Amino acid sequence: MAVLAVHSRGFSAQITRGPGKSRIYLQCPLTDAVEQWPDERIWSELSERFGHPVQPGPINTKQIVPLRGVVFSPMRHENLYLLGDAAHIISPMSAEGMSLALHDAETFARAVIHRIGTGDSRLLDEYSDTCLRHIWNRQQAAIWMTDTMHDSGDSSYHGEFRKQIARVNLETLLQPADTAN
Ligand SMILES: Cc1cc2nc3c(=O)[nH]c(=O)nc-3n(C[C@H](O)[C@H](O)[C@H](O)COP(=O)(O)OP(=O)(O)OC[C@H]3O[C@@H](n4cnc5c(N)ncnc54)[C@H](O)[C@@H]3O)c2cc1C
Repeated sequence: MAVLAVHSRGFSAQITRGPGKSRIYLQCPLTDAVEQWPDERIWSELSERFGHPVQPGPINTKQIVPLRGVVFSPMRHENLYLLGDAAHIISPMSAEGMSLALHDAETFARAVIHRIGTGDSRLLDEYSDTCLRHIWNRQQAAIWMTDTMHDSGDSSYHGEFRKQIARVNLETLLQPADTAN
């Protein structure tokens, strides 16, 4: 289950990860240090942004994560093939890093099997281009989703103008399909 909140104090989310465990996201300035976020502040900030009290619990790890997208192109240098995070980082907001890594691995494995089975190296030669087409599509979607969710509430992120644009994007996204114009 996932609870997402867009608030003027910033984006927040609570995503369950098995019984009694959650991953919590709180938008904060990248210049913040983990030490500025003691457990009590995390729980009270989450309650504030969700608009209702959140039951506190022990917090195992905390990390300040930049929501960045990076692509190293091409993903092949002679006999060196890059896969997964070694080739690209996608914003954690899209929760797709692992799927992209698996997609690379499957594309690469098929190409190697084809090469060994037939002697034809075409799929291996196309490995980088094949993966990059998919990766750029997913990066575009991830950046759109990251900016929409983070700009929508907090105008200090990219300014009031971008906040209003993001709000429209978010409202369009949440509109039922049959009422969209
Ligand atoms: C905060 C956060 C949340 C995320 N949430 C999600 C999510 O919900 N869903 C999702 O799909 N993805 C998520 N991701 C991304 C996902 O974790 C990665 O994209 C994925 O693990 C990449 O897989 P990989 O095999 O390329 O790299 P990794 O999983 O990093 O595997 C690389 C392995 O190589 C090992 N290694 C490194 N150097 C060496 C060396 N010299 N010798 C031997 N071994 C070495 C490392 O120890 C590691 O085990 C998230 C990432 C972050 C940071």
